[in-house]
Amino acid sequence: MAKITFIGLGNMGGPMASNLVKAGQDVTVFDLSKAAVEALVGEGAKTADSAEAAAQGAECVITMLPAGKHVEAVYLGDDGLLAKLPAGTLVIDSSTIAPETARGVAEVATDKGLDFIDAPVSGGVGGAKAGTLTFICGGEESTFNRAKPILEGMGKNIFHAGPHGSGQVAKICNNMLLAILMAGTSEALALGVRNGLDPAVLSEIMKQSSGGNWALNVYNPWPGVMEGVPASRDYQGGFLVNLMTKDLGLAFDNAVKNQASIPMGALARNLFQLHAGQGNGELDFSSIQRLYKPE
Ligand code: NAD
Repeated sequence: MAKITFIGLGNMGGPMASNLVKAGQDVTVFDLSKAAVEALVGEGAKTADSAEAAAQGAECVITMLPAGKHVEAVYLGDDGLLAKLPAGTLVIDSSTIAPETARGVAEVATDKGLDFIDAPVSGGVGGAKAGTLTFICGGEESTFNRAKPILEGMGKNIFHAGPHGSGQVAKICNNMLLAILMAGTSEALALGVRNGLDPAVLSEIMKQSSGGNWALNVYNPWPGVMEGVPASRDYQGGFLVNLMTKDLGLAFDNAVKNQASIPMGALARNLFQLHAGQGNGELDFSSIQRLYKPE
């Protein structure tokens, strides 16, 4: 049993921490939301009044926060956790943030003798609940090997992508592709329906044809086609448009820095930004379907 502190108990962090509790780990949690903390305490986790107090005595600290600014606020500066944790502590950040932000946190952590990896995840809220997430890690091989048994309590596929920041690079490439696939799938479904096709029948046909993809297989964006997905509960919960827009911004910034061309990614970023600007930021990202199907 490892003594683990988990900070950030949102759509993803909540079920991830819950799986660590179920796996028999000694888990202490912290979040700015009292309701989120109480839910975990109800499942057997401990808590404390601050991130620093929660991290006291931890062998491993895991964060699952919205964006880079939250990660920097928790870890960096005189009051940040990196200044307080004893050397040798394992620090895992699973938030999706810019690779250079992850490298900046890693540099400070390494200077202080802490073992840091960036370990963003793929698999959505369903994967977080089922404990089947994919972890995409960046950092030293030895730190990766140390983190792996803990990550296995929350995920199924644990990858080592390369040095610090590599987990974030792989993650933003993946999410750029996901956004393109979701927008393209929505567009194809809308065209078929405009021609009088049943979206469920068309989905089944495309799943078994060359257009088959993850969105069609497990996350159909058309309301009512698939049970248990955000599209069938008015796009509530899941992976928010605001977070997808953030990730596409990370991909876009990265492409500019590296003089890479991402025409499809840039278009996807604009589509999701437009959709967010129309008041849909707090809906699941599959609600991009509404851009193609005005209600
Ligand atoms: P969320 O907004 O649901 O949860 C974030 C949590 O962090 C909230 O509970 C918030 O109160 C807490 N928080 C913010 N600042 C804090 C602080 N200073 N101290 C303590 N707690 C703090 O977000 P989420 O959907 O769980 O996503 C978290 C990260 O995972 C994001 O970077 C996102 O891009 C990534 N991600 C999300 C999904 C998904 O399907 N939702 C999938 C893969 C990756």
